[in-house]
Amino acid sequence: MKMSRLAFTPLKNPPANADTINHQLLVQAGFVRQLMAGVYIYTPMGLRVLNKIRSVIREEMNAIGGQEVLMPSLHPKQNWVQTGAWDSVDVLFKLDSRTGKEYALGQSHEEIVTPLAKEMIKSYKDLPLALYQIHWKFRDELRAKSGILRGREFEMKDMYSFHENQEDFERFYEEVKKAYLRAYDKIDLVAKVTEASGGGFSNKISYEFMVLTDAGEDDIYYCPSCEFCVNSEIAKQKVGDSCPKCNEGELLEARASEVGNVFDLGTKYSKDFEVFYVYADGSKQQPIMGCYGWGTTRTMGVIVEKSHDERGIIWPASVAPYQLVLVSLAGAEQQAQGLYDQLTKAGAEVLWDDRDESPGKKFADADLIGVPVRLVVSEKTGDKVEWKNRASDKTELLTAKQVLDKLSS
Ligand code: ATP
Ligand code: MG
Repeated sequence: MKMSRLAFTPLKNPPANADTINHQLLVQAGFVRQLMAGVYIYTPMGLRVLNKIRSVIREEMNAIGGQEVLMPSLHPKQNWVQTGAWDSVDVLFKLDSRTGKEYALGQSHEEIVTPLAKEMIKSYKDLPLALYQIHWKFRDELRAKSGILRGREFEMKDMYSFHENQEDFERFYEEVKKAYLRAYDKIDLVAKVTEASGGGFSNKISYEFMVLTDAGEDDIYYCPSCEFCVNSEIAKQKVGDSCPKCNEGELLEARASEVGNVFDLGTKYSKDFEVFYVYADGSKQQPIMGCYGWGTTRTMGVIVEKSHDERGIIWPASVAPYQLVLVSLAGAEQQAQGLYDQLTKAGAEVLWDDRDESPGKKFADADLIGVPVRLVVSEKTGDKVEWKNRASDKTELLTAKQVLDKLSS
């Protein structure tokens, strides 16, 4: 991509109303635009990052047998009345039609996926079933703040599973937890598996995936010696208590952002929508359900909160909008064109800063955008190319062939 043609390039200053790093840097570098509080537009570069996060999650959900579907955002009131949520869920956006009908905007999709799955689930042979989507949610959040960490419209990967018994549910629950941890690892996030309450309809424990950051809205207690971690809202423990799991560490407190969670839904929704299947012994049973959320847009914001410096964003390679930014300085345009063609032909994702800007501006913008590798060609580099990783100050002079080799290694 030639930067002279790119829609939305870095701004001189961060937006004045930004209260968090992710809001400042994502707007200033050209990844998002705020339409209003809690509602954001993803620019071409922003969408590239979001697509990569989606791909990492999709790959892991498919690997454990999840099947992707796409459910609508506009829901009939009746589905929400049937579960009691029409009156009890305060974040639910409700819409009046000019025809007198009422609708809800999806804030989650249990109300849609359960009657959908009911059509498929007739016998124990139809189970387990896991359906997921990566889609926008609408919530009338009281305070939409912290950039894309808390939106009124935001994207989530939400998966729902159906099982013939508790044992099979537990098996899948563990598989999802492992898949989540593999996916966080791929995007260079360390997420603590945190015990939390099961929410309004369950007295069971749920698990939240928490990334430590002061931009988050949760407080957690964690053990420095083992992986024990609990949400402070439900904790029986307090800071300084010895760890209930390993008895060695003393619990510490930290601020965190919840990037995902897994819930045991029991038969709450199977009951509400009267889902039955015929068990092996001929009896009628109701499937046990689980749900598994992952905030994709929040994840993008959390990555920026965790991975930046005073010059800008430092994207992990797996989610970076481009692999390389090629900065060409005056007099090296032809060499840059040749290198750009060679790199793109070899399959590399290259952002070429071919703009008529000063070297200082080009270098500052490359750092702000945060692509993992910066290449420079100039009269000074001759027929070689300067390679620098975003996260380091070390530069190397390489031939074009060496650049290609290094990329494929
Ligand atoms: P929170 O406690 O942060 O409000 P939640 O308990 O409401 O989260 P879920 O309804 O289970 O979360 O949503 C699943 C995931 O979606 C969360 O783990 C989080 O990553 C993301 N998420 C939830 N609410 C928002 C929001 N308003 N904006 C952006 N992401 C969100
Ligand atoms: Mg919430």
